[in-house]
Amino acid sequence: MSFAKMGLSAPLLRAVEEQGYQTPTPIQVKAIPVVLAGRDLMAAAQTGTGKTAGFALPILEKLSKGPRAKANQVRTLILTPTRELAAQVHASFAAYGRHLSLRFAVVFGGVKINPQMMVLRQGVDVLVATPGRLLDLYNQNAVRFNQLEVLVLDEADRMLDMGFIHDIKKILALLPKQRQTLMYSATFSDEIRGLAKNLVRDPVQISVTPQNTTVKSVKHWLVPVDKKRKPAVLIHLIKENNWEQALVFTRTKHGANRLTQQLEKEKITAVAIHGNKSQNARTKALADFKAGHVRILVATDIAARGLDIDQLPQVVNFDLPNVAEDYVHRIGRTGRAGSTGEAISLVSADEFPQLSEIEYVIKELIQREYLDGFQPVNDVPASRLDRKPKRPKKPKKPKAPVQENPGEEGQGKVQKIQPAGRRPRYRGRK
Ligand code: AMP
Repeated sequence: MSFAKMGLSAPLLRAVEEQGYQTPTPIQVKAIPVVLAGRDLMAAAQTGTGKTAGFALPILEKLSKGPRAKANQVRTLILTPTRELAAQVHASFAAYGRHLSLRFAVVFGGVKINPQMMVLRQGVDVLVATPGRLLDLYNQNAVRFNQLEVLVLDEADRMLDMGFIHDIKKILALLPKQRQTLMYSATFSDEIRGLAKNLVRDPVQISVTPQNTTVKSVKHWLVPVDKKRKPAVLIHLIKENNWEQALVFTRTKHGANRLTQQLEKEKITAVAIHGNKSQNARTKALADFKAGHVRILVATDIAARGLDIDQLPQVVNFDLPNVAEDYVHRIGRTGRAGSTGEAISLVSADEFPQLSEIEYVIKELIQREYLDGFQPVNDVPASRLDRKPKRPKKPKKPKAPVQENPGEEGQGKVQKIQPAGRRPRYRGRK
């Protein structure tokens, strides 16, 4: 299958070519015809599968034909759970739509509202928004939906996890009933299906499993290590293996800041990205990392969700996540779009409950590699898969709907991942 055969017009094909995409990904092959045909869609697909182009390209195709947006009107609304994802989806529309004369805008909380009101005044063909800020803008008469043609809910499962359900229901009540609705979610739980009932009409359902895409080429294993030696082990791995760049996950914002300082002390450029940082600081951190100015990006789970970083060869779990399914999301950050990747977890004895939970969820024991010179005094107990582990304590659920600046990790969804192959010992690896 080629993009040219999918019914996209020349300006879009040119933009796709400029992006360097040669063939559509499986979700694009499935989704593009459905969206072009005007049908509603429920798609099970994670970030990394190419899902954004899967809806952006056909939406742009349709928008290029219709009447322009009038003042304060929006023709396509895309709701996302986080600011980062909103910014990335907006950037994708801008890139794919660069040869069309359409207007795109993105709005999210944590930054001034006035410039966003100014942009909306002239009307936009595509608005990407996080729910809280969109409602603020609506309440200030900055946005109207009479011309709305398409609604996209991106990462719907994450939006529910983050407590956006009430905001979403309020927004839905403002939209015209006659519209096309596309819903994307990593998995379709009963809760998501419940939401879908009032949202999509006779939807086409498609699913792309990460086994075939995101996680297939990721090798993952763990290094047992004493907790206090984790920074030294990470520094050793970076230097010994001469890693060009790595994405490192910590469990807390404080841990991310501390680790960044420890790396900087060793003359390893590093920057932290988490919910306490201002939007500008987060955008700059990501841009610096993407441009190769910074070697290590240290992130908490919420901040990392949806980060669009291509061909990242190295992911490190400095701490194991509290929620087992986040392990799958984290290691899905590497080995994307066909490139191979490695994910290494530094695991201390006190993290055994989290490890057991992860291994139970992914249905495999993660290969262990002891690192010469860093053998732990307190070793991680042997794991087994034949019984359900006691659940480690979960992070507290927020009571009120969380705005776009949640605390630590959110919760992920279960995806089975491929077993790792045999790993050679780490010593001397380049
Ligand atoms: P997404 O799942 O939408 O976050 O996309 C994941 C990554 O795949 C992004 O960096 C896209 O630029 C890239 N991508 C999307 N479609 C294609 C394609 N057909 N060929 C190669 N890369 C793609």
